[in-house]
Amino acid sequence: MPLAKSDPVLIVGAGTFGLSTAHKLASLGHTDITVLEKDNRVPSRFSGGFDLNKIIRSEYIDPFYTDVALKAIRHWQTNPLYQPHFRQVGFLNVVTGEAPAVVQNALHKYNQSVAANPAFNGYLVPCPDADAIHKVAPQFTGALPGWTGYLNRLAGYAQSSNAMQAVYGACVQLGVKFALGEAGEVDELLYETAPGGMKCVGALTKDGKGHQARTTIVAAGGFVANVVPAIASQISAVCWGVSHIQLTPSESEKLRGFPVTTVRDIGFFFEPDPATHKLKVCYMGGGYTNQKNGLSVPYSTLAESEYVPEEDVRQTRRLLKQVLPHIADRPLVDTHLCWVADTSNSDFIIDFVPGTTDNSLAVLSGDSGHGFKMMPIVGDFAVDLLAKGAQELPRWRWREPEVEEGRPKHIAWRATVTVDLSSTPRAKL
Ligand SMILES: Cc1cc2nc3c(=O)[nH]c(=O)nc-3n(C[C@H](O)[C@H](O)[C@H](O)COP(=O)(O)OP(=O)(O)OC[C@H]3O[C@@H](n4cnc5c(N)ncnc54)[C@H](O)[C@@H]3O)c2cc1C
Repeated sequence: MPLAKSDPVLIVGAGTFGLSTAHKLASLGHTDITVLEKDNRVPSRFSGGFDLNKIIRSEYIDPFYTDVALKAIRHWQTNPLYQPHFRQVGFLNVVTGEAPAVVQNALHKYNQSVAANPAFNGYLVPCPDADAIHKVAPQFTGALPGWTGYLNRLAGYAQSSNAMQAVYGACVQLGVKFALGEAGEVDELLYETAPGGMKCVGALTKDGKGHQARTTIVAAGGFVANVVPAIASQISAVCWGVSHIQLTPSESEKLRGFPVTTVRDIGFFFEPDPATHKLKVCYMGGGYTNQKNGLSVPYSTLAESEYVPEEDVRQTRRLLKQVLPHIADRPLVDTHLCWVADTSNSDFIIDFVPGTTDNSLAVLSGDSGHGFKMMPIVGDFAVDLLAKGAQELPRWRWREPEVEEGRPKHIAWRATVTVDLSSTPRAKL
């Protein structure tokens, strides 16, 4: 039976995907939506989207995602809910002179994919060397040794927490209910035996309360396997370190306006945030896992994620020395680990859970570290699934993972392999 507008819907997770879905359903007239969130505030500090900013770019080596991301960018440019939080400063995609061949090759493929797509006509600026990069980013005072790549002006960044705050506010206005903290953290899903399998009938939260629902949508990011254990073989929670440099207002003003820059063999950084004057920078290795019994799950408390590994500090300083040497040795502040849900091939998983009946349980997961830009349209994907009753796109179906040496297959577009946090020294800052 299709979902009626008055049927109770539960969404587990008020992160990027959960908020987008709640907003879409409420906008379509669904009247009984409850979002359960383990943090005691929204935007949730556990969400991969919770920080100053996220890159909004549409180049993908895979043209399928380029098309999807282009749709999302149109929303960031024009949708009144999202547009105030988008800064179209461009996306500088480069490698250093020390980049390994595999990373140079990835840059080449990105370059080819945008050059071949008419949507980017007039937006691309080749940047074959440091001189060309200094022209498009005069704020960069470093030597940019061997840097080469291109600038795509049909891109930029979103002030991500601000965008989440706005969508949360819009949800509340539309009557979406939120339960937070102990009252929102799902301990387990509730099932009833039904002909042909188990029917999910809602969720039990940490405060002992049962929440009944006709359909439950789990959008718990890297934590998804805690709620839907059967997905654990397809998803690995992976994190990256996030660091900031606190600038003065005048230093921040001088640097304002440079494009979001990804140096594919080291990391990425953003123009200073206009409100806090913090410059965010992330080392972009293969990411880190927290392995427990062969599965990777995020740390369960915020405090455990409030550090970055030593390697991040080393690479962050290496990057800044090349581009903004005057701030390269400044203290790194607000360091933390940011968790996502990786699949073996970076495809999302947007599907009903096999073995559950009556379209009672869906997952919206597998963001693989590239989901924030999709926030304006992820809710459409969930609504589509509910309306059609099955995932028509094979790539977003629940599937068996590709396994390599007993672990989920390494994701090819990342520069280095994933390392477990237990074997990585913590930075002492
Ligand atoms: C360092 C870093 C940089 C990134 N940069 C970019 C970028 O530049 N561009 C881009 O597009 N994407 C980027 N991403 C990825 C982006 O943040 C994620 O793809 C996106 O946040 C995924 O959304 P989600 O809703 O699946 O998960 P999340 O946003 O993580 O939300 C999951 C939510 O579920 C809640 N939850 C978990 N368990 C429970 C439970 N048991 N009960 C109730 N609630 C629960 C959590 O508290 C959280 O709020 C980046 C991620 C990281 C880590």
